[in-house]
Amino acid sequence: PSRPIASVNPATGQTLKTFAPLDDAEIEQKLALASRAFACHRHTPLAERARRLQAAADVLTTGRERYARLMSAEMGKTLASALAEVDKCALVCRFYAEHGAGFLADVPVVTDATRSFVRYQPLGPVLAVMPWNFPFWQVFRFAAPALMAGNVGLLKHASNVPQCALAIEAIFLEAGFAPGCFQTLLVGAERTADLIADVRVVAVTLTGSEPAGRSVASQAGNHLKKCVLELGGSDPFVVLESADIQKAAQTAVTARLINNGQSCIAAKRFIVAEAVADTFEKLLVERFAALKVGDPLDPATDVGPLATPTILKTLDTQVHDSVSRGARVLIGGKALPGPGNFYAPTILADIPPDSPAYGEELFGPVAALFRVPGLDAAIRLANDTAFGLGASAWSTDPAEIDRLAEEIEAGSVFINGMVKSDPRLPFGGTKLSGYGRELSREGMLEFVNIKTVWEL
Ligand code: NDP
Repeated sequence: PSRPIASVNPATGQTLKTFAPLDDAEIEQKLALASRAFACHRHTPLAERARRLQAAADVLTTGRERYARLMSAEMGKTLASALAEVDKCALVCRFYAEHGAGFLADVPVVTDATRSFVRYQPLGPVLAVMPWNFPFWQVFRFAAPALMAGNVGLLKHASNVPQCALAIEAIFLEAGFAPGCFQTLLVGAERTADLIADVRVVAVTLTGSEPAGRSVASQAGNHLKKCVLELGGSDPFVVLESADIQKAAQTAVTARLINNGQSCIAAKRFIVAEAVADTFEKLLVERFAALKVGDPLDPATDVGPLATPTILKTLDTQVHDSVSRGARVLIGGKALPGPGNFYAPTILADIPPDSPAYGEELFGPVAALFRVPGLDAAIRLANDTAFGLGASAWSTDPAEIDRLAEEIEAGSVFINGMVKSDPRLPFGGTKLSGYGRELSREGMLEFVNIKTVWEL
């Protein structure tokens, strides 16, 4: 059975609003509309698409406070981070409005032809299955390049953020995109198989967990449809002896606790050279101890609640299981008394390889601390994971930096900074973190027909 489609405030447990899922006839209507909208949208001039994306950015900026509060209310992120998320969505709209036409321009290639070139054409309605953790950003980073390329979008958002999902549909309409260019489908996860099978849906993109990714990828594979997957991560944060330890420790806190710890690219495994491990550990524990956990709308709050009771329970089980296998709790290690899904900022050390804190993604405010003799061991441990999304590594030695950039198995390596997405840079993973890329030109070209034209 699928999850109910409902907004439940994670800070209070209060149900704010529930929604009936779309029935078959409503889904059919929306698919037909998407198909008709594509027939028209694919022929709108690029300048017009860009103008509408700029308008979407304006709508976001005007409604900034309202959208941010909606996110906080539905999934518990702090208001400050929600406001920053709205701004980033406006930024990605403007980025593709400004650069999209250039990314899509014909590319001449010299061959035996009189004239040969590569042309980039839209594919059609693309289904986006999206998660609740960045309920606006995850959607906009798909939608902005897709709409600019001439595709149309169908959003199956996570069932706990239906009001965000509806707000996003309304933003694109208000920006001037024709009805059907971007539609929200309020349906449970069990309906995605039928949507992927529908001939009018040409491709699918999913951001979420590994099981959801396997399910969607196999359905897409069965119907031979293009699929992009952005799944979980257990990103390493490597600190070597030559690093600026103060700065590394300060960034480590932000990198672990972004979005109350619920980010695929949050730093999760802190791999620290023995020579500086005591200092780093002390700084990290001090900073975790000073964090204020509470109401996400209170400006003084550092860490809000986890998005759902299930996320909290999963995290607590992972921590307890790790401790029962020998991990040591340096701080935290437990859920906080309710109401609300609050978890104490936690640091674990002495983590055995057979424990969840070593091998699984911890989606919440829990840092796993590891000590290594030096660079070789750090790289080995950083790569000893099924995931490969991002990595942050701290060093001031150019030779070390070269090796970290070259040898860490991940979709991105950030040196002396935390992993973050940026519209100008490709974003995505290797190994079980998924395949395909979002953002930048590479992300835009995932959902186009790369057509070769050859003329004698
Ligand atoms: P899910 O992966 O279950 O949810 C993400 C999206 O996928 C939702 O829209 C969900 O719909 C949909 N979905 C779930 N299962 C299927 C399926 N079998 N077929 C098609 N669509 C599906 O994430 P959860 O919210 O359950 O979180 C669980 C864990 O996933 C987290 O603890 C974290 O480890 C990881 N995660 C990672 C994210 C990331 O950014 N990498 C984001 C979110 C979660 P519905 O809501 O209706 O179930």
